[in-house]
Amino acid sequence: TSNVGYTPADKGILIVLSGPSGVGKGTVCKALRSCTSDIVYSVSATTRAPRQGETDGVNYFFKTREQFRQMIEQDQMLEWAEYVGNYYGTPRKFVEDTLNTGKDIILEIEVQGALKVKQKFPEGVFIFLLPPSLPELESRIVGRGTESEETIRNRMSVAVDEIAMMEHYDYAIVNDQVDLACSRIRSILTAEHYRKDRM
Ligand code: 5GP
Repeated sequence: TSNVGYTPADKGILIVLSGPSGVGKGTVCKALRSCTSDIVYSVSATTRAPRQGETDGVNYFFKTREQFRQMIEQDQMLEWAEYVGNYYGTPRKFVEDTLNTGKDIILEIEVQGALKVKQKFPEGVFIFLLPPSLPELESRIVGRGTESEETIRNRMSVAVDEIAMMEHYDYAIVNDQVDLACSRIRSILTAEHYRKDRM
């Protein structure tokens, strides 16, 4: 054949950004969205109460436990996990539709859920965000000022277990500065788009 060029894939790339609570996944994700218009963000469902400034349908779809259970029963969740007493899950249809239109989608989720997504989408790109150190992680959780002392302790102990799961990921990035973490992720995505096995 005379055509020796590669054709880009028609399907988008599924990106999972994961890591311990308080590492700044939310902040990095937000920065990524503001500097790149071509990544779609997956809005999760949760049973936890909205924090100040959070809007239903933007930050999360806020659900009762009953509503959440129904979504699971009706197979509407790509993955879900219980995290520090609340349910969190990724609505499946939106992710599939986005990928089918050729757009990349990013899921910002905790570790158990990320590993479930990996079983369904082994071709996804799994990025683990690390804190510069554990004391730094704790001060970030405390500094958010939204969590009780007990919740902070629970989140720290979960975080230590979560960091051990890093080995299952494709990439590990230290979130020392948001703009640096953001540009590292963009570089990863650029490289992933040129992988021969995606074409
Ligand atoms: P937060 O309550 O701080 O918003 O979120 C708590 C944790 O749940 C964070 O680690 C966040 O990434 C994770 N999370 C948010 N949405 C989802 C989801 O849809 N699925 C899973 N498995 N985790 C999620």
